[in-house]
Amino acid sequence: MANKINFTNNKITQLLGIEYPIIQGGMIWCSSWELASAVSNAGGLGVLGAGSMYPEVLASQILKCQANTNKPFAVNIPLLYPNIEAHIQTVIDLKVSIVITSAGNPKTWTSLLKKEGIKVIHVIANAKFTKKCEEAGVDALVCEGFEAGGHNGREETTTLCLIPSIKAITHLPIIAAGGIATGRAMLATMILGANAIQMGSRFVASEESSAHPAFKNKVVEAKEGDTLLSLKKLTPVRLLKNEFAETVRLAEQDGASIEVLKEILGRAKAKKGMFEGDIKNGELEIGQVSALIDAVKPVKEIFKEILEEYALAINEIKEL
Ligand code: NDP
Repeated sequence: MANKINFTNNKITQLLGIEYPIIQGGMIWCSSWELASAVSNAGGLGVLGAGSMYPEVLASQILKCQANTNKPFAVNIPLLYPNIEAHIQTVIDLKVSIVITSAGNPKTWTSLLKKEGIKVIHVIANAKFTKKCEEAGVDALVCEGFEAGGHNGREETTTLCLIPSIKAITHLPIIAAGGIATGRAMLATMILGANAIQMGSRFVASEESSAHPAFKNKVVEAKEGDTLLSLKKLTPVRLLKNEFAETVRLAEQDGASIEVLKEILGRAKAKKGMFEGDIKNGELEIGQVSALIDAVKPVKEIFKEILEEYALAINEIKEL
């Protein structure tokens, strides 16, 4: 069968002890134990998105994930999270084996996590942070291009440009992210130098994700041009266009200050949009690739489709 491609010699499957080089993005409000355990059980790496979880919520999510899969899974911790020490202690205490850090300096926590036997993967959106990650001692990189949803790089480097530029300067394994929701995109990024892929948007629109059904529907309906990179003065975030995004866009167009933008952003807009389903006034973080996603599907089916298309694309390339 097409999806029986053997990835046993792949650097990322070996490093993480998984079957397929497919990592789930740790998206805030969308990545709880149901999604993470489903992805790990399907042979990829499931990820709990700790950025939207209070410490006690993260602890209970880890325990539920451990109860629902005997395969490896990871916790994604955005380094700008307010109670970061508590999250770090929780992953150590509950013996999580893989941590993905993002939005911060990898030097701060990597050595402590590694001393505890935890594998550390760090997310970067430009080539200039590669050396910093090497010096910090991370095990692998997620290299996330401009197409990606949620937090984004200021340089606006696309995945097509990012992967080869990082491949040229490091021996660390590379996980490509940003714009990937299909088997063809998986193969394309691997040809560019990636060892594996990370997908966020595709898994937001899965049956198991904790995204609100109204948000999942918006993702399915999204067409080309329906996302924009917003809030560059604060932290650049890729969002679906809606009333909230338009308010921010108009303010940015008028040269709004950081203070004014913070006031418009307010608090918990991501929860309002993605978790509570306020698709008009909430923040809806999603990647450009939402334009290619046309149905909410179970994780198992997403894996089957991607792996089959990946195998098909390999055969097609031979005939070009
Ligand atoms: P806000 O400051 O607007 O709101 C905080 C939100 O986080 C609330 O919804 C709150 O839940 C929840 N929360 C979870 N733990 C805590 C805590 N210890 N203290 C305070 N609030 C907490 O932040 P955002 O919603 O914009 O972002 C929240 C986190 O998600 C940040 O750490 C940020 O870095 C991360 N993030 C990651 C992105 C990514 O792409 N990886 C994208 C955007 C944000 P409640 O309402 O129940 O109190």
